[in-house]
Amino acid sequence: MTAGAAAAAAAAGNSALRGGTDTASGPEAVGPVVADARAAQPWWEGLGFAGRKKVLDAWRVLILRRAEELVDLIRAETGKTADDARLEVVLVADHLRWSAAHAARVLGRRRVRSGLLMFNQSATVEYRPLGVVGVIGPWNYPAFIPIGPVAAALAAGNTVVLKPSELTPGVGRWLADTLAEAVPGPAVLRVVTGGGQTGAALCRAAVDKISFTGSSATGRRVMAACAQNLTPVVIEGGGKDAMIVAADADLDAAADAAVWAAMSNAGQTCVGLERVYVVAEVADGFLRLVGDRAGALRTGERPDADLGPIVLPRQIEVIRAHVQDAVARGARLVLGGPESFAPPHVAPIVLADVPEDSIALTEETFGPVLVVNRVASVDEAVARANAVSYGLGASVYTRDRAQGRSIAGRLRAGMVSVNAVIAFAGIPALPFGGVGDSGFGRVHGPDGLREFSRSQAVTSQRFRPFMQPNSFARDPGTMRALLRMVRALYGR
Ligand code: NDP
Repeated sequence: MTAGAAAAAAAAGNSALRGGTDTASGPEAVGPVVADARAAQPWWEGLGFAGRKKVLDAWRVLILRRAEELVDLIRAETGKTADDARLEVVLVADHLRWSAAHAARVLGRRRVRSGLLMFNQSATVEYRPLGVVGVIGPWNYPAFIPIGPVAAALAAGNTVVLKPSELTPGVGRWLADTLAEAVPGPAVLRVVTGGGQTGAALCRAAVDKISFTGSSATGRRVMAACAQNLTPVVIEGGGKDAMIVAADADLDAAADAAVWAAMSNAGQTCVGLERVYVVAEVADGFLRLVGDRAGALRTGERPDADLGPIVLPRQIEVIRAHVQDAVARGARLVLGGPESFAPPHVAPIVLADVPEDSIALTEETFGPVLVVNRVASVDEAVARANAVSYGLGASVYTRDRAQGRSIAGRLRAGMVSVNAVIAFAGIPALPFGGVGDSGFGRVHGPDGLREFSRSQAVTSQRFRPFMQPNSFARDPGTMRALLRMVRALYGR
């Protein structure tokens, strides 16, 4: 469907053609959908920041009005608890609001100093949309994770083609459908559903950027496919987040946060907590608190459950292998064990004294398993926290805020929370992303908006310069005089 046809359909009130309800499926659907998104992009860009903000604000209001519908859909596709799904909706609204409200300030044209050498020029920079952005999302937060790149890309003036996980196509479709109701023109968020092959086709479709969130292994395949067209990519990969607990920490608060960060969403969170390094003198007390709190959690189908199912059946074997390997190497089971596995559910497991080279400490577990290891000092904790290939999030507990900041600065992680966990994800002005196997590029915040834009520098001559170095007609002494001037100014 071309933009013109889409606009005509919109005028005719044909909502099936306007929005995600015409969702296409499979790799062969990708090309035509990307072509439609490309055709719609100039219209969307032409609305300007103010026009796009109006639409995105209306979308946010609609999402919140129908929040429980989205909660039900997230639950139906992922099995997560109602409160875990509500948390997603809260974050979706906040990030959408931020991107719409701040795009003009972050991306709009602004003057920059032209400097002494070029003082006859006025200089401006602005950030223009890339065109069509492809967003490939995971199933674990099917609304919150895609909304970061989707909101930023749309606010910047791009149109978007979203490929949700094959496990959560309904949430992707719902987002596109509700936006279609708010857009007075062609669809600017399109959805293609299907498995990995559909994602691979989107990578090959010569879109202007791919934002990928998923496992680091798939991220490598995405990058290889994007290399064919030199399509730039953002990779939000997996994580192995660590918490450092110093001797002066509020142990109650640290234990409460550790259990929530490790066990909420049944541990299926990219910035979920998987490792704690606690200073030896407070380790026993901390472990007792963690064991008590995690042991009180309810797992299963019951309506008051704290932990829902493990969504990917094969992940259960990964979790089991990590626990078995750790125990075989001498780790201590503080809570749970083989009896914790009742597929599709896994009840909380807490391990202590786990050898650092076991897979439970080197690879992403992505389940409700927390490793708590004691260390002699904060310095050792930092060294161990940094000793993995991932570098996504981290947290630090200490009553000394200056120490907290200093430890944060030494951690190889894209995001760190001091005396809190995962707080960075709820602050839309902060960039979100990692280093190493956790990927590169950023979503959220000003960095996220710029990620889906291209800078354009424009100069405009205000008056003819006294010396004209950029001309074959320059005076013979011009370059010598210029060098003398630069030496005088900057040569000392
Ligand atoms: P996957 O890597 O399995 O899949 C992610 C997305 O990529 C899915 O939509 C998937 O489709 C698609 N895909 C699969 N193969 C290809 C391919 N060859 N080319 C293009 N796309 C492809 O991750 P999960 O969905 O299992 O999500 C869990 C992972 O995501 C964990 O590692 C977690 O840490 C990470 N994650 C990272 C976050 C971050 O911000 N850093 C946030 C959330 C999760 P399909 O599902 O249909 O196969």
